[in-house]
Amino acid sequence: MTRIAFIGLGNMGGPMAANLVKAGHAVTGFDLSHDVLKAAEASGVRAANVLTEALADAEVVVTMLPKGQHVLTVWTDVLRSVPKGTLVIDSSTIDVDSACKAHAMAGDAGCLSLDAPVSGGTGGAAAGTLTFMAGGSTESFAAAKPLLEVMGKKIVHCGDAGAGQAAKICNNMVLGISMIGVCEAFVLGEKLGLSHQALFDVASTSSGQCWSINTYCPVPGPVPTSPANNDYKPGFAAALMLKDLRLSQEAALSSGASTPLGAEAAQLYALFEKLGNGDRDFSAIIEMFREAK
Ligand code: NAD
Repeated sequence: MTRIAFIGLGNMGGPMAANLVKAGHAVTGFDLSHDVLKAAEASGVRAANVLTEALADAEVVVTMLPKGQHVLTVWTDVLRSVPKGTLVIDSSTIDVDSACKAHAMAGDAGCLSLDAPVSGGTGGAAAGTLTFMAGGSTESFAAAKPLLEVMGKKIVHCGDAGAGQAAKICNNMVLGISMIGVCEAFVLGEKLGLSHQALFDVASTSSGQCWSINTYCPVPGPVPTSPANNDYKPGFAAALMLKDLRLSQEAALSSGASTPLGAEAAQLYALFEKLGNGDRDFSAIIEMFREAK
């Protein structure tokens, strides 16, 4: 049994903390939202009224927050309160620079730290089947692994500080670009009189195959579980895809990498969001290409 402080109990953090409770750990949670905190309490998390109350006696701290600025603010307060040697894990999706700053702050405070963003969405968080991409020292990774295994089914140590965030945004840049490519192919196929099923049967078994077509096909029919069959309810919201594409472009700029298709994908998802589609699944972008003249 480990004493864990879990900060940020929203759509992802709530079910992740619940799984830690189910595995027998003592989890104290804190969130700025009273409603979110109440919901976490119902799953066995002890609710703290202030951050420092959640941190008292914690051996491990997990943060699951919206953006880099939130993580740096919370980590500053956390690292002031916890004793040396405490393990601090951030599972939010944030920019690589902020992740590296957070690690440096933890190092200065004598704490172990890990960036460990996830993929698998809210369904994976609830089922405990997330993929964790971790960055940090071997010692931090070894200490965190048993807890990550409670919340996920695949845990990859990607390298040193920031490597987890780097892997996450590189993967999601591929996903954004490939979804756009698949959507364009289906719209072209429609114009050429090709049925969705025929294009799927060919592309999903030949060189066009990829996750965006085989598992998450953006038209209803060929893959019954894809959000296209459920009026494009997420799934993975377009606003989150845009967030990750923007993070990839910040990283490309600061590292000097050339990512022209990543840049184009970010612009197309920005337009899609501006048209009021941020809450829809990211595969619904096919409609924007259909409507384009
Ligand atoms: P969310 O908005 O549902 O939850 C974030 C929570 O953080 C909120 O409840 C908010 O009140 C809380 N919070 C913000 N600032 C705080 C502070 N200073 N102290 C305490 N609590 C604070 O977001 P989410 O969907 O749970 O996502 C969390 C992170 O996980 C994001 O970085 C997101 O990009 C990433 N992510 C989300 C998904 C998904 O499908 N939702 C998938 C993979 C990764």
